Amino acid sequence: MPYQELTQKIVTPDIYSSYFSKITCQRAWMQIDLDALTYNVTQIKNLLSTGTALMAVVKADGYGHGGVTVAKTVLKAGANALAVATLMEGIELREAGVNSPILVLGVTNTPEEVVANIHWNLEATICCLEQAFMISRTLSQYKKQLSVHLKLDTGMSRLGTPWYQGTRLIKLVHKLPYLKLSGIYSHLSASDDPDKESIELQHQRFETVVSDLKNQNKFCLHFANSAATINYPQLHYNLVRVGLALYGIYPSPHLRSQVSLKPILQVKAKITQIKTISQGTKVSYGNQFTSKHSMIIAIVSIGYADGVPRNLSNRLQVLIHGQRAHQIGAITMDQLILDVSHVKDIKVGDIVTLIGKDGEQEITANDWALELGTISWEILCGFKRRLPRVNIQNIPNKNK
Ligand SMILES: *Cc1c(COP(=O)(O)O)cnc(C)c1O
Repeated sequence: MPYQELTQKIVTPDIYSSYFSKITCQRAWMQIDLDALTYNVTQIKNLLSTGTALMAVVKADGYGHGGVTVAKTVLKAGANALAVATLMEGIELREAGVNSPILVLGVTNTPEEVVANIHWNLEATICCLEQAFMISRTLSQYKKQLSVHLKLDTGMSRLGTPWYQGTRLIKLVHKLPYLKLSGIYSHLSASDDPDKESIELQHQRFETVVSDLKNQNKFCLHFANSAATINYPQLHYNLVRVGLALYGIYPSPHLRSQVSLKPILQVKAKITQIKTISQGTKVSYGNQFTSKHSMIIAIVSIGYADGVPRNLSNRLQVLIHGQRAHQIGAITMDQLILDVSHVKDIKVGDIVTLIGKDGEQEITANDWALELGTISWEILCGFKRRLPRVNIQNIPNKNK
């Protein structure tokens, strides 16, 4: 079977000459739907209050989807700015030609980092007075301005100045030369909790600081992540920082009714061998699985070194020919094994969907997260370098 969705074209620039050879050469891959990403940006923008801008969070290599591709696509789709976690992530985007505002959410603690921020035009986060002093000193030395956002800790107890010291810090920062305080922000600790008590407390704490500001409209105020953007418009302020929802995953199932999102990631792999085993045959490392009857098994070329968690061994389900199949035995580094006794006409080279859609069936990153007792964010970031990313986009129909 050549690649199934013939209306879709692969747009990843690479050494392969056509999308056919690209897929046929791969044993396993991540497929990123750039149209779905554009769709999600539009849906999220429709939720925003008037005057609220969209900052797309593309940290951790775009939540594992490819930071540069995601950044370029969301900006084209209407996102106004980007956020990354680290300086290096910001530099990678600049080197790839991205020229939107970029905020580094992580810390800037050394003069060398400040110099890099200046050079690459990356906005920095400040969390305390010592940091503000150090940044201002470095900027004075180079006679350069730098736009910084002050982070308030309103209840997360991670990065940030305790909110009750916020007003004082803002006043001091204002007096420091070359430091341009352009934003004030905070982050929620339980944004997807249907009970909004902790959001309200954090909101109140933020308000005690920002309502005190003399010229509030000179600052870009921001607070909301995906869940609050969808579910708590009071926190929209001047800008929202949206990560997970861009990638088409709901931060919590109760938010489904509020906005329509499409997952942009599919993970696929090929069947490399098929065989029949008799009753009582042991399967994979550690002999964790013994067949209760004779069965047809298929070997699939993807494993934990690609990002399929070994802890899903004997619990993972996949899609093949539009049907579910169970994975059996231990998941190994490069391969895993399926029971395909019930699947008709199966053959070597058939494509297995680990995450994504096949016919009516769908498996999401959230299904894996629930099974593992973790969150979708961790699943998305867990796919490894070895899995090539294949970006797809519909070919515009010229006759329309
Ligand atoms: C990661 C992150 C976000 C995005 O969170 P999502 O829940 O993925 O939307 C927003 N703000 C900060 C400070 C973050 O670290």
